[in-house]
Amino acid sequence: MKKTIGLLLCLVLLLDGCAAGPEEAEIYAMDTLMTLQVWGAGRAEAVAQLKGMLNGWDGQLSVTREGSLVRQLNEGQSVSLTGELEALFSGALALSRETGGALDPCLYPVTRLWGFTTGEYRVPTQEELDALLPLTGSDKLTLSGKTASLAPGAQLDLGALVKGWAGSRAAAYLEGRGDVTCAILALGGNIQTFGTKPDGSPWQVGIQNPAGSGVAGILSVTGTWAVVTSGGYQRYFEEDGVRYSHIIDPKTGYPVSNGLASVTVLCQDGLRADGLSTALTVMGLEKAAAFWREHRDFEAVFILDSGEIYATPGAPLSSCSFQLLEEAP
Ligand code: ADP
Ligand code: MG
Repeated sequence: MKKTIGLLLCLVLLLDGCAAGPEEAEIYAMDTLMTLQVWGAGRAEAVAQLKGMLNGWDGQLSVTREGSLVRQLNEGQSVSLTGELEALFSGALALSRETGGALDPCLYPVTRLWGFTTGEYRVPTQEELDALLPLTGSDKLTLSGKTASLAPGAQLDLGALVKGWAGSRAAAYLEGRGDVTCAILALGGNIQTFGTKPDGSPWQVGIQNPAGSGVAGILSVTGTWAVVTSGGYQRYFEEDGVRYSHIIDPKTGYPVSNGLASVTVLCQDGLRADGLSTALTVMGLEKAAAFWREHRDFEAVFILDSGEIYATPGAPLSSCSFQLLEEAP
């Protein structure tokens, strides 16, 4: 009898968690608007905690906030990292190596020159770029145990992967609580799902049309995933009729312009999804396809400037016409 009452109570609590709808919040952190929706008995407390976590990470990892850990590093100090930040830093280094430097966490001297973090946009001279490019590259960041330091003049910017990492950390936190049934977190363009939607149907994640308004396609995902889109259309400036995007090829120091309008990556590891969406944008379709063939631990959707869409065979894509990426070259 006791067991039955216990079971019934659980069921009622579960139903209450779903029927009550989500706890919702909007915050501005990591340079973007974030919306959080969390279902389950612990939803209110979970959302309050998540807000604190996201603001806390922003305070530590921002390149512009006075006193942040990243600012201290960029001012030449060594800093000691917590376990979770050590995992973030070493994950960034590993992904930079794996992508042949297409993702470069030490690109800040160059991105700053273009004004992408300050909004004071301008096209730098080749001399300026030539002077700063030698300061970039992930080899400028040293991790020794939990101590991080930079080579003289080098500067760190984790902006290309920090939101994806934060999404995964947030999902792990929700999982650990045990009283949250599901959640969807939109950290700017980074979507992090957690668990199964209350009605059991998949989460529908729209891929923004890079050439205009509305949605170019829909990814249907069930469970805990990061769905991250990078694209030049998200932040750019124009000068003399040329569009300069905020995603920069670390080899040249110039904004990427290779026919790819956006890259969406679906992966259970948020750092990887976010870092790869940027890195694959830098690589261009052909090299990105080769990278996928070699790894196959993520799905991706590529939208070209021409409007053509390519997707990996496992991408749960619908509501658009697209071509499958060849399994072999
Ligand atoms: P967003 O953060 O705007 O969603 P991304 O994840 O693609 O988009 O990250 C782009 C940001 O990362 C840029 O604004 C810039 O600060 C930085 N960045 C640009 N190019 C690179 C690169 N090749 N490697 C690492 N960081 C980059
Ligand atoms: Mg990214």
